[in-house]
Amino acid sequence: MKVTRNGDLIQLTFLPGFFPVNCYILEEDNELTLIDTGIPSSYQGIVKVIKELGKPLTNIVLTHAHGDHVGSLNKLKSNFPKVPLSISLRDSRLLKGDTSLDQHEPQTPIKGGIPKDINVTPEKLLEDSDEIGSLQVILTPGHTPGSISLFDTRSGAIIAGDAIQTRGGVAVSGQIRPLFPFPAMATWNKKQALESVKKIKGLSPSLLAVGHGHMIEAPSVHLQKSIDKAEENLNK
Ligand SMILES: [Zn+2]
Repeated sequence: MKVTRNGDLIQLTFLPGFFPVNCYILEEDNELTLIDTGIPSSYQGIVKVIKELGKPLTNIVLTHAHGDHVGSLNKLKSNFPKVPLSISLRDSRLLKGDTSLDQHEPQTPIKGGIPKDINVTPEKLLEDSDEIGSLQVILTPGHTPGSISLFDTRSGAIIAGDAIQTRGGVAVSGQIRPLFPFPAMATWNKKQALESVKKIKGLSPSLLAVGHGHMIEAPSVHLQKSIDKAEENLNK
């Protein structure tokens, strides 16, 4: 596990060489929020960092319900049973293994590793603009129908889950980067993914933190380039 801090945001990276998977701990004045839970073997590393920080964990939030983001969820919830779990209302269905689509949604198949063994029920079902501590929920569908980003209203950092990847080059979800094609292969709808990254860019984030790849400070230029590239590809 590799630990990288930027301000109040701590990035935990598992399998940094081959298939880097990030989860994050946001440090607040008196508490900690865990964002995503990595893969099953991430559990011990997550607990170690929480202990080192010496503040209570008060929230677990999922950016989306893919296997590489919910891997340690069962174990964490059994170790921290009183800590509420939050996920978007829409992706709470995916968390139960339900890949059905609503009539109003684009009828492209939901892809990626959908968990089959989650034995916990989320306490909070998130909608746009909901708040968890300093974090504001931004609905950013595309990678999955209910993907969210979390915007730190204190620092301007955004934790975008797999709406964007930075590993292998910054890319809108669904746009293949040959050096790291996996997030694109797991993306539900490229058009919605593009709209979501425009929404993220519109917030002028100070820091971009994603599920796969390093954090990027002042990411606006990178975001615009990735938007231009995705638009070009989608208009082909
Ligand atoms: Zn992922």
